[in-house]
Amino acid sequence: MLKTRLEIITAERVVYSEDVEIVVAPGIIGELGVLPHHAPLMTMIQPGELRVRRDNVEESMFVSGGFLEVRGDKVVVLADVAERADEIDVARAEAAKHRAEERIAQHAVEIDHARAEAALRRSMVRLRVAEKSKKRRPPTV
Ligand code: ATP
Repeated sequence: MLKTRLEIITAERVVYSEDVEIVVAPGIIGELGVLPHHAPLMTMIQPGELRVRRDNVEESMFVSGGFLEVRGDKVVVLADVAERADEIDVARAEAAKHRAEERIAQHAVEIDHARAEAALRRSMVRLRVAEKSKKRRPPTV
């Protein structure tokens, strides 16, 4: 099966580096699907879920936004922050969601609503990614 090398890189580390069959990324104007032999491309991505199919298994990750480049047989995602599903701390994401919801509900002038909405979105995507990966895992008994 044809594959593309996907590398997800932040300033701190290489988050993901695998050969995959398809990448579906949260482009700024909607989901962007990249199959092997995709034409060269450079685009911005927004905070969201990045999905891949590797050896016929779907995996998903959180990306906070950044750039995606398709060049040759490689897809490189440069993200401010990214986490694989197994790295997501669910309790932390729930706490972040709760905090953001409380801020949004306050309607006070000193609250930066855009910032709170962005934090809420990040937490919700993290929870979705973690939940999906939990469902995919086989039972441990
Ligand atoms: P929080 O308010 O909990 O810090 P945040 O959305 O503001 O959440 P970010 O600014 O996106 O956090 O990320 C800061 C750092 O913390 C990054 O290194 C990121 O990978 C990590 N991080 C944030 N939330 C989580 C989480 N739920 N699980 C694992 N790592 C996380």
